[in-house]
Amino acid sequence: MTDVRRRVSLCCVATSPLLADLRAALGDDAVLTDPDLLRMHERDEADLCASATPLVVVRPRTTEEVSAVVRAAARHGAPLVPQGARTGLAGAANSVADAVVLSTVAMDRILEIDPVSRIAVVQPGVVNATLAGAVRREGLYYPPDPGSWESSTIGGNVSTNAGGMCCVKYGVTTEYVLGLEVVLASGEVLRTGRRTAKGVAGYDLTRLFVGSEGTLGVVTEVTVALRPAPEESLTLVAVFDSTAEAGAAVAQIAAKGLAPSLLELLDRTHLRAIEAYRPMGLRTDAQALLLAAVDTGSRAADDLARIAEVCEAAGADEVYAASDAVEAAALLQARRMAHPAMERFAAEAYPGGNGGLIIDDVAVPRGSLAALLDGVARVAAECGVPIGVVGHAGDGNMHPNIVVDRADPASLERGRRAFDEIMRLGLELGGTCTGEHGVGLLKRDWLAREIGPVGVRVHQAIKAALDPEGLFNPGKVL
Ligand SMILES: Cc1cc2nc3c(=O)[nH]c(=O)nc-3n(C[C@H](O)[C@H](O)[C@H](O)COP(=O)(O)OP(=O)(O)OC[C@H]3O[C@@H](n4cnc5c(N)ncnc54)[C@H](O)[C@@H]3O)c2cc1C
Repeated sequence: MTDVRRRVSLCCVATSPLLADLRAALGDDAVLTDPDLLRMHERDEADLCASATPLVVVRPRTTEEVSAVVRAAARHGAPLVPQGARTGLAGAANSVADAVVLSTVAMDRILEIDPVSRIAVVQPGVVNATLAGAVRREGLYYPPDPGSWESSTIGGNVSTNAGGMCCVKYGVTTEYVLGLEVVLASGEVLRTGRRTAKGVAGYDLTRLFVGSEGTLGVVTEVTVALRPAPEESLTLVAVFDSTAEAGAAVAQIAAKGLAPSLLELLDRTHLRAIEAYRPMGLRTDAQALLLAAVDTGSRAADDLARIAEVCEAAGADEVYAASDAVEAAALLQARRMAHPAMERFAAEAYPGGNGGLIIDDVAVPRGSLAALLDGVARVAAECGVPIGVVGHAGDGNMHPNIVVDRADPASLERGRRAFDEIMRLGLELGGTCTGEHGVGLLKRDWLAREIGPVGVRVHQAIKAALDPEGLFNPGKVL
């Protein structure tokens, strides 16, 4: 764009009737058009997904302000993209051209913690770790713990139905969402669900909005269920010569009725990436490492010993327990570093730091985990791309991370082929195209294959009923 055209276009933006309406409703300080800030809000953490600079970023503080934003966007026919912390890994928070990005960062208040009903009520911009810490101080526990928990928001977690490491025992976000307040496309405010321990009134609209990735409405308040704080956990590490053996151990742990509070797998690529990123003494000669924890109180030592036996029987060449809580925390930290470590590994794998990651997210029945891991190794060899595997093995939920050279179209093409082959394999094994990251832009084709034409029609009917003008997060999910 020439300088003159840019000046004209910026001038039009500054005086647009939509911006005037937004400023009138929220005040100037909550309506942001600084070009650097707009660029910052263009996309989430997913590589290789389309995005465009928004027209404006707004930061409402209350439900009424969200309503006013939605009404203004609808009046002017502008798309509206809700954003939390933009840690998403499917492009679901990516802006489209001329969008109003509605950021929830200023809606960050914990409204209530009720230890008797064991619930908390929060605004959507509360960061997961802030809520977890606040309820911990009351002797309570909010289990969903995505790896991004120190930055991702409860609104984002709800809208992606986020998982995490504790989910193998405690379940994913949806298990903890009792009720929601949602601003609909009309600007009206819908309340779903309940505060009570039980309740079955009407359709389960709460679950409809959980995982809807900002396509059906803006979540403005969340009522979550809490649990009593768990017992201290004990942790072990099992080292394997093959990823498939580690996968077989996971199936056996489940078959024996054991209930670890954490069961994670890291393959050799990730072990090496983590050691290069921050040396921790991990066994980089291993093909796979399983990290398991139990929090069963007086039974914990016995349960850990039984998990160790299963791992040894499945072929582990070394099994050891963390000697104390400090070592256990360090092991957990190593697992949490998998993502940044792998990003660094990918960047350095190609000249000029051009390496990137296509992050996959596939879940299969636990009994098929070994077949999935073998299959991913086969896909890597056939497509000629490095693929590291990490994930929530206890849930059968793996993240094959495909390393590509962004500057080389042939490498990108091989990476995309590998991505598709892994999706195909996951579905063939009776799994799903996304265990926790969501559909976003990355997996729309695969969602359609997974749910079939009838499922697609029902999705479209729900979208049309709630958002007839296609205002919310266009192009995502379907
Ligand atoms: C290092 C790292 C580790 C991760 N580990 C995990 C993991 O273990 N498990 C997991 O599930 N995910 C994980 N993720 C992915 C990501 O953190 C989650 O998807 C998270 O829930 C996104 O939250 P967010 O606040 O960043 O939302 P965003 O990325 O900003 O948005 C995600 C989606 O939610 C919508 N949205 C956000 N807020 C609202 C709202 N108030 N109303 C309506 N729609 C809304 C957006 O439109 C978008 O569709 C990880 C990401 C990173 C970078």
